[in-house]
Order: sequence, then C-alpha cells, then structure tokens
Amino acid sequence: MKHACQQASQLTSDSFERKLSWLERIRLYTHLAMCKLCRSYNHNLHIMHDIFSGMRNHEHLPKASLPETSKAQILEAIKKER
Ligand SMILES: [Zn+2]
Repeated sequence: MKHACQQASQLTSDSFERKLSWLERIRLYTHLAMCKLCRSYNHNLHIMHDIFSGMRNHEHLPKASLPETSKAQILEAIKKER
C-alpha cells in the first residue's frame, strides 16, 4: 500500500470517530478523487459502518440505506474473511 493510501485509509477510519478538519477532508477527498482503490475501500467501510452501527443502534438508523441484497453480500464477504 502506498503511503498516501495508508493516510487516506487512516483518515477514513478517523472520520467515524471524530470530525475531520477541513485540511484532512481536502487531503482525503483529493486522494479519493485520484485513487480508485481507496474509493472502493472508503465506500465499503462506510457500508460496513452503517451495518454495524445499525446492529448496535437499530431504531435511530434511517430506513433502507442499503438494499437487502448487498447487505447480505457484504455480510457473506465478512464471514469469508474470518
Ligand atoms: Zn489510495
């Protein structure tokens, strides 16, 4: 993994725990604009975050943020990783 990619993935996971500064957001989004790999990583992370926070906190989630089929696919992929 390239250094810039590592930084981008770090910022992505940080963004779930705290609010990123504008500088960090710019850094992240300019990287995502150029890097296909990190874009899909970022996308998947957001989906997984939605699912896991949905598990913990079901009532507060907006309904149907993700189609059921892709949810099942992702959960299947997670199971395979283990
Ligand atoms: Zn990258």
